[in-house]
Amino acid sequence: MDFSTKNVPEYFGKYVFDDTTMRARLPKETYKAITRTVKDGRSLDITIANVVANAMKDWAMELGATHFTHWFQPMTGITAEKHDSFISPDDTGRVIMEFSGKELVQGEPDASSFPSGGLRATFEARGYTAWDPTSYAFVKDGVLCIPTAFCSFGGDALDKKTPLLRSMEALNRQAMRVVKLFGNTDVTSVKTTVGPEQEYFLVDKSIYDKRPDLIFTGRTLFGSRAPKGQELDDHYFGTIKPRVAAFMKELDEELWKLGVYAKTEHNEAAPAQHELAPVFTTSNIAADHNQLTMELMQKIARKHDMVCLLHEKPFAGVNGSGKHNNWSMTTNTGVNLLNPGETPYENAQFLLYLCAVIKAVDDYQDLIRVSATSAGNDHRLGAAEAPPAVISIFLGDELTAILSALEKETAYNAKEKTLMRVGVHVLPKFPKDTTDRNRTSPFAFTGNKFEFRMLGSSASVSDCNTMINTAVAEVLSQFADELEGAENFEHALHDLIVKTIRNHKRIIFNGNGYDDAWIREAEKRGLYNLKTTPDAIPMLLQEKNINLLCKHKVLSEREIRARYEILLEAYVKEVHIEALTMVDMVRKDILPAVCGYGDKLAETALHKKAALPTLKCTYELKNLENLSVCTDNIYEGLLALEEAIESVKHEDGNLAQAKAYETRVIPAMKALRAYVDSAEGMVAYKEWPYPTYGDLLFGIKN
Ligand code: ADP
Ligand code: MG
Repeated sequence: MDFSTKNVPEYFGKYVFDDTTMRARLPKETYKAITRTVKDGRSLDITIANVVANAMKDWAMELGATHFTHWFQPMTGITAEKHDSFISPDDTGRVIMEFSGKELVQGEPDASSFPSGGLRATFEARGYTAWDPTSYAFVKDGVLCIPTAFCSFGGDALDKKTPLLRSMEALNRQAMRVVKLFGNTDVTSVKTTVGPEQEYFLVDKSIYDKRPDLIFTGRTLFGSRAPKGQELDDHYFGTIKPRVAAFMKELDEELWKLGVYAKTEHNEAAPAQHELAPVFTTSNIAADHNQLTMELMQKIARKHDMVCLLHEKPFAGVNGSGKHNNWSMTTNTGVNLLNPGETPYENAQFLLYLCAVIKAVDDYQDLIRVSATSAGNDHRLGAAEAPPAVISIFLGDELTAILSALEKETAYNAKEKTLMRVGVHVLPKFPKDTTDRNRTSPFAFTGNKFEFRMLGSSASVSDCNTMINTAVAEVLSQFADELEGAENFEHALHDLIVKTIRNHKRIIFNGNGYDDAWIREAEKRGLYNLKTTPDAIPMLLQEKNINLLCKHKVLSEREIRARYEILLEAYVKEVHIEALTMVDMVRKDILPAVCGYGDKLAETALHKKAALPTLKCTYELKNLENLSVCTDNIYEGLLALEEAIESVKHEDGNLAQAKAYETRVIPAMKALRAYVDSAEGMVAYKEWPYPTYGDLLFGIKN
């Protein structure tokens, strides 16, 4: 196969068992049965599964596959796979290649080590995986990968895909009720769509290999600022260096083969930072594709002797990496429900869905905030490079003015004579371009979709979409309840929209989200400001949130409580590993280097004075003095950190431990880092045990 540029349409999706491939390779009846399964979510008959499995195996073998795996997304946030070969012994001592319907539909990985939050005791450690036929199988590195959900034997979800699929069903159910109210009889389903923009850093592998902090934690725990950072904005959208361009080219090709719509690539704000955005698609497929994208970024970077950093904040002092989750709802007839449209009728629908999102985000700010929380993301939120931890919605001045005119029952502007009425008047045009200029908002309307900008770069998009879908589903169900019984639909619709704007306008904020004044204003408005992961996670257990997720059958209370523990535990472990890594680096490399350099200065001064007693040796002695003070500080900082780590052991339960890491260990880490970074400024470059920020950020030279 020719994978050259001119051939893209031909090889796009070549490694995917997609609709075209199924149509070509499956008997007509089987193809029909499987498309029905995908469309209506029906379970698949085993005889049909057998036919599909066999066709899949033949197809995969032609692409060089010898193994298959159920590909799933456990609570670790990354993907998991366990390879089984197709071989099956025959009577003659040889093998045949087999893949059965049973193996396709269900798997039983012994996956007892994945986080389960207590949903699985070790004696019943088996989990099982179940095929998600709505996401196509694909061949990756000679393995047929079957996207699957992952559950405990008791049926509790142990992964990120299951709740996402459930939330899409919930939204479909409720949105369909509203769609029907508008008399759209040709629509049979509503799906949510997602386009995640992915940021990342690339660093030279030989430099990376010398940084234990990057290796163990994905971020630098020490490092004084390079003389140059991102202040000149010369990297943002700058020319792409040949080595990086070669990486991007290969990444695109590999993603295209896997049917991922990789579309836009450019340099980001920080040196060595880049972004990739795909064309949006159905949420669960977008989630699968984003996982594949992150995996391939890391793998392909290594082939180019680079390492791709997906951590939210690999370097202090320059921007960290996020992931923008663009979100909307689309009917099976191809109508984007967040598109304002051209007629009063289309506008009315649009306003209702818009209000549903506004109310959903206001009512469930805390849940949406939780869905973007992690130890890594705590470094970004509120640091004037990513939105603050306060959730608010940006609508743009025009749209806000329209809503305000509706709410206050006034004219939209001085020239208009008539008051705006939903369903009667055409909305004034608001230019798309001006709606997405505000980059400081966590939840921005960008003309025909919302962009949730709080997510960290390494996060799975599943969690936030699960929460957004469910919250919007709930509000749509409330709207449908109210409108279904209305005597006069048009009046009821108008009143509902006006009431929603009135009650939820506090969540709308078009100003600068980085400004401290906004944080004070948000507090006055009664909005949540959940600054850190240990602040945010307990919100999962609020009664209203448990009720929401249970009502829409997205997560059971058991599953929510398990997730609560898993999230806290992940935070505790992550910070713990960082703290231990710091201790190790300081004890084994940094203190010896600093002492050694001090020793050299002392020796030089001694030698010089022995040779010529009148010499002052100001440089050597002053530096020695400063360095010596710094060494003591580092040592004390180290002891304080060790003590803080030790003290956490006495805390009972994940929440208390997480709080202790936040309030005791992290401050001790920061203090220690400050001493070490100032020492780095005093020690000769050659004597410092690690590559510097300058080496890391500007290490890819061409
Ligand atoms: P930005 O200006 O934020 O950098 P772009 O306009 O390049 O963004 O697109 C951002 C992302 O939004 C793309 O991945 C795009 O496919 C996605 N997107 C566009 N329309 C929708 C939609 N209806 N639903 C979900 N995502 C969408
Ligand atoms: Mg964006």
